[in-house]
Amino acid sequence: SYRIGVLALQGAVSEHLRQIEALGAQAVAVKKVEQLDELDALILPGGESTTIGRLMRLYGFIDAIRRFSAQNKPIFGTCAGMILLAKSLENDETVHLGLMDICVQRNAFGRQTESFQTDLSVTGLAKPVPAVFIRAPFIRATTSSAVEILAEFEGHPVLAKQNHLLACAFHPELTDDPSILRLFLEMI
Ligand code: GLN
Repeated sequence: SYRIGVLALQGAVSEHLRQIEALGAQAVAVKKVEQLDELDALILPGGESTTIGRLMRLYGFIDAIRRFSAQNKPIFGTCAGMILLAKSLENDETVHLGLMDICVQRNAFGRQTESFQTDLSVTGLAKPVPAVFIRAPFIRATTSSAVEILAEFEGHPVLAKQNHLLACAFHPELTDDPSILRLFLEMI
């Protein structure tokens, strides 16, 4: 079966590991760059993107994940993970991996709606999926036609795919619905 890594520096790691195993794949908590070699795909979890980005720099993950991506191995960024994948950020100079042709706005839903759950219809999925948003970003703009928007919330893109890269603004691992993860596993 496939081996799926979850970058385990900070954030919602164990929830992803559990959902991966529930679909019958092998889940690996990734703490060292050497572990990337044994993976078929990688998940960048939600959490705090500034913290995760700082730890990625410290442990050599920026170049290592760029090399992983250059091999066309699938990468899925959820919430903070979407911020890490973006080529640019609105209102923030920082670029972390800079792999995906999207401009992302952090904490985009404002303080009044810090956290909420909604059902989203997703291109390619028969049924709406429950989506948990926690101080979530959204995609402000796409900067190439290679980016496919798969779901929007109130007119803002919150799920997008670009070749072997997938990014969502919400937390699919915090629900019992594995359909977004299944979508990602189909990219392997
Ligand atoms: N607000 C966080 C950030 O900017 C992301 C929140 C999350 O991952 N749930 O990094």
